[in-house]
Amino acid sequence: MRIVLLGPPGAGKGTQAKVLAQATHLSHISTGDLLRQNVAGNTQLGIRAKDFMNKGMLVPDELVTQMLIERLKQPDIQKGFILDGYPRNLAQAKTLDGILNSLDAAMDLVVYLDASEPVIIQRLGGRLVCKSCGANFHVTNMPPKREMICDNCSCGLYQRDDDKEETIKKRLLVYQSEVAGLISYYQQRHKLHHVSSDEGPQIVLDKIMQLIKELDDSPKV
Ligand code: AMP
Repeated sequence: MRIVLLGPPGAGKGTQAKVLAQATHLSHISTGDLLRQNVAGNTQLGIRAKDFMNKGMLVPDELVTQMLIERLKQPDIQKGFILDGYPRNLAQAKTLDGILNSLDAAMDLVVYLDASEPVIIQRLGGRLVCKSCGANFHVTNMPPKREMICDNCSCGLYQRDDDKEETIKKRLLVYQSEVAGLISYYQQRHKLHHVSSDEGPQIVLDKIMQLIKELDDSPKV
């Protein structure tokens, strides 16, 4: 099964993708995580991407798409995947369909995680991320047991550079300018399902699992 999670920054795509991947044994692909690994590793891609990311802008399509193509060549992808952070615009959605077509595959489910702006700002403003394993925490919603230390691997937590208030606003503007095209693209293909993510993570997860179950149970053509 191949699933795409869409939604504004702070809608919980990363959180849901991680738990979904555990529950379904599908691979989790986050283009944001892959880019951050490149930035941390000071690769050519990371050096080119860093400025765009810190300004809350999209990294140019060709860089992100090439990175995704390389990731999709890895063997764990055979069993299916959950894509989080890609596509971000209509051109990427078409590119993704082209890549999958060439592999004789298609997207099965596109879940749009809807969150209201106050919830987004509250979530992103307090988000803490583990430097090592990438686990997410929140200063009030999900505080780590020890201050600024990851519960899973005991490494340090940090606030993402692009989770500062000014950059959050810019990211939301960028997102809003691109989202309409994406929504109508997947709506026309009857793939899009809306899930409100203002509620807690477990409720959102249950709703997505229900969509997966309905898809599994539906007659195959
Ligand atoms: P995320 O972790 O998904 O919030 O992504 C963090 C940042 O990485 C975004 O604000 C963009 O600068 C960049 N990024 C992630 N995915 C993409 C993508 N598909 N296209 C362009 N830029 C991306």
